[in-house]
Amino acid sequence: MTDSTDASSHHVSYADYATGEPVVDKAVPSGAIETRWERRRFGVKLVNPANKRSKKIIVVGSGLAGGSASATLGEAGYHVKTFCYQDSPRRAHSIAAQGGINAAKNYRNDGDSVYRLFYDTVKGGDFRARESNVHRLAEISRQIIDQCVAQGVPFARDYAGLLDNRSFGGVQVSRTFYARGQTGQQLLIGAYQALERQVKAGTVEMYARHEMLELIVVEGRARGIVARDMVSGEIEVHTADAVVLASGGYGNVFYLSTNAKGCNVTAGWRAHRKGALFANPCFTQIHPTCIPVSGDHQSKLTLMSESLRNDGRVWVPKKLGDDRGPNEIPHEERDYFLERKYPAFGNLVPRDIASRAAKEVCDEKRGVGPSGLGVYLDFDDAIQRLGRKAVENKYGNLFEMYERITGENPYEVPMRIFPAVHYTMGGLWVDYDLQSTVPGLYVAGEANFSDHGANRLGASALMQGLADGYFVLPVTIGDYLAKNELDAVPDDAPEVVEAVQSVTDRIDQFLSINGTRTVDSFHRELGQIMWDYCGMERTEEGLRKALDRIPELRREFWNNVKVPGTGAELNQSLEKAGRVADFLELGELMCLDALVRRESCGGHFRGESQTEDGEAQRDDENFSFTSAWEYTGRGQAPVLHKEELTFEYVHPTQRSYK
Ligand SMILES: Cc1cc2nc3c(=O)[nH]c(=O)nc-3n(C[C@H](O)[C@H](O)[C@H](O)COP(=O)(O)OP(=O)(O)OC[C@H]3O[C@@H](n4cnc5c(N)ncnc54)[C@H](O)[C@@H]3O)c2cc1C
Repeated sequence: MTDSTDASSHHVSYADYATGEPVVDKAVPSGAIETRWERRRFGVKLVNPANKRSKKIIVVGSGLAGGSASATLGEAGYHVKTFCYQDSPRRAHSIAAQGGINAAKNYRNDGDSVYRLFYDTVKGGDFRARESNVHRLAEISRQIIDQCVAQGVPFARDYAGLLDNRSFGGVQVSRTFYARGQTGQQLLIGAYQALERQVKAGTVEMYARHEMLELIVVEGRARGIVARDMVSGEIEVHTADAVVLASGGYGNVFYLSTNAKGCNVTAGWRAHRKGALFANPCFTQIHPTCIPVSGDHQSKLTLMSESLRNDGRVWVPKKLGDDRGPNEIPHEERDYFLERKYPAFGNLVPRDIASRAAKEVCDEKRGVGPSGLGVYLDFDDAIQRLGRKAVENKYGNLFEMYERITGENPYEVPMRIFPAVHYTMGGLWVDYDLQSTVPGLYVAGEANFSDHGANRLGASALMQGLADGYFVLPVTIGDYLAKNELDAVPDDAPEVVEAVQSVTDRIDQFLSINGTRTVDSFHRELGQIMWDYCGMERTEEGLRKALDRIPELRREFWNNVKVPGTGAELNQSLEKAGRVADFLELGELMCLDALVRRESCGGHFRGESQTEDGEAQRDDENFSFTSAWEYTGRGQAPVLHKEELTFEYVHPTQRSYK
């Protein structure tokens, strides 16, 4: 089905989905988990160094995953073309990461190990991740720190000069490396420098302000992309021997999220339409510590790093309707609900648990702030214990950011926080080699369906993006290139012509609808539907409502959206229209995925599936699988392929942080 016929397409019930053949990860070696990655690396076919120059690789994305992949592939001698929609790779959303990056270095000698990081991550993800991938991630975590230190990333150090660590949720050791509250920025500058070095060396060609709008698939293999020069509007064809998508997460399907405004699903969704399965789309992370929504005018939300929960205490008044200022409420009249409910982990429970606990007290009408949708994050005790200077050293820039946005001084009045959409665990399905179901299409970082299962532990996204880019892809993609000698794709190949045509048709259609509603108004409405029905709590009834409403909204979009301007110029409404059109399809798939998964796990909380004390109740017998969806046409019921998950090492138990 083409985009132009979609406007009139009939509504086919998504809930009529079919179940297809299981999807199997054929790339993962068997045997002892500790040696799987070692054996995979030894098993790959190598590309002769002299031949690497003739192999072209396209990398879409220059955040931590794409930047590190491009730099490493360039350094290895491949001919790399890297794309990003920002004006510089340095502005990728990764720059926003605040809190830190995990690594099993055990510098604190507090009992950490590769195995413990592996264990914590499998458990933290509520047993919905692959053991082999997670173990590899834990192994590589140590190399990442060495790599970044060698690049000069200024990690925080302790008094003795050793790299410092702090704790993040869901763990009882201190393994998070950080650079004040700007870890992502410092890591990205490291990757960016390495990337620019390759640009100078001529191995990487950088295409900033270019948006990938289509994947080119020739004889079943990913062979290139169609991109739009966002300044001139020119549509360009770029072909290659393999394509890497490192295009980030899709949390902005909710309109309001902590993601940068530009984050979107288009690269991944275009690939999905061309045959790449989309895995666990409903697994969304809601982060407990964000600045509460303050009104309709807002277009984005601000995260306050999880690291703040190392020293900040979360509370609400015990009494209903207590409207005293926070400093007037004595300690004994405060409910430190995380410490009360989860004494073993206290304020450092994982994000899904902390978010739900905050929702629960707000549902009881004990929330604080003008909307009642907020809880306090209080540093009073920490300031008294450590002194203001020490708190300032650790979190100074976060406190400053909070004060600038809210006008309140968190050294004097507790911060107010509330959960918000933050990260998407779902993404394109990949095997152990990070290859999607389209041969030659690799997916890295937040764009793949990730090693985090149903809930990502804090400080693990940076670790995964850099593991994928610096260490995994350069090995596995080489294997593919060594084994597949591919002819160049001519610009007039029918698949290329078709891909270009579909991009230009779509742009023409956006510009010709000339309706009455802005792109943003559709996006905002979609976001509200997603938040209400596919947000912190999902129910059969709500999801069915969303599945009815989203196709209607999509049809209205294709009939009534207004995109001013032309395609031959910088046109932000046009850019947004393309992204929102894809969100309108993705949102429906997310709701279907959430409906089909009739269990709660991690961030996916089904109201119908909870324990007596309100915790997520998994159903391992029926749902111990990754869902991988096949596209069959817009508004058409997709096909579900299941990848069964097996746990040989970390045996599934009811997660407990009590
Ligand atoms: C506020 C915030 C704080 C966070 N803090 C932490 C933290 O402390 N620790 C942690 O581990 N994680 C953290 N995370 C999560 C983490 O930052 C992200 O998951 C991670 O940085 C994603 O990296 P990435 O390389 O996959 O994608 P991104 O950094 O989002 O990069 C995506 C790239 O793809 C490009 N792109 C996308 N689509 C297209 C297209 N169609 N055409 C061309 N280019 C395209 C973009 O231009 C960009 O270069 C945080 C997230 C947020 C929102």
